[in-house]
Amino acid sequence: MTDFPEGMVWLVGAGPGDPELLTRKAERLIRAASLIFHDALVGAGVLALAAATARCISVGKRAGRHSRDQATIDRLIVEAALAGERVVRLKGGDPAIFGRATEELEACRDAGVMVAICPGITAASAAAASLGASLTLRGLARKLVLVTAHARAGETLDLDWHSLADPDATLAVYMGKAAAPDVSRQLINAGLPGETPVALVENASRDDERRFHTRLDLLPLAARTALGDGPALLLIGRALAPPGVTDPARCRPSTLARHGLRGNGA
Ligand code: SAH
Repeated sequence: MTDFPEGMVWLVGAGPGDPELLTRKAERLIRAASLIFHDALVGAGVLALAAATARCISVGKRAGRHSRDQATIDRLIVEAALAGERVVRLKGGDPAIFGRATEELEACRDAGVMVAICPGITAASAAAASLGASLTLRGLARKLVLVTAHARAGETLDLDWHSLADPDATLAVYMGKAAAPDVSRQLINAGLPGETPVALVENASRDDERRFHTRLDLLPLAARTALGDGPALLLIGRALAPPGVTDPARCRPSTLARHGLRGNGA
């Protein structure tokens, strides 16, 4: 395979969990790999695509349960590539979004190892799709902000709450479950209305997916009582209002007829 010689590393986006949400390129690279280092978030359905002869090694990091530190992961992928393996470093969602990709790219480049990125569907896109919602909304949500609410151990969450409290933005908060009370309080203090719609999506695109609609002032309660153990995304902003009753007038048969798509009333 010309774009995946022995001794090369691909940082591959595994998407949110559903193997059908992999890109075709990701699937091809996973099948071609001789060695796969994967995150805890990568689902079994995705790993099942690996060749029978490939070795799959979990280097998963989940909140509070760090099984390998980042420097060790960097060394592992470099040493495997130098030993002549075709290495896939498989990451949940998109490798370039809260994925520590820079460290791994630099480690490879410093060692003279060829490295490239295959993008993936990020959790915010998968969560919006599951909700049947758009992340942007003409005139109401002109901006999409991807932010992590994960504080380093022992540190408080240090975000620019005033710039985040923008009523014209959609906020996609990654790693925000534990910080949900803080996120709610700080955004309200910074001027965002308490009734701002919030959607919570846990395990987006997986069989055990769960979705909830709430409001910013009720977010702490919802995060505490409604969410389980899985990865969860908080989506905040007017674009996330719960779907209302569909207005049948918006898709009258006559509209189809006017556009030559179907006979009126047929
Ligand atoms: N690179 C990943 C994000 C890694 S950070 C991406 O692009 O999606 C890990 C955080 O992503 C989790 O704490 C959670 O907030 C979010 N996340 C990842 N997969 C998810 C899923 N299937 N459903 C909901 N949130 C998810």
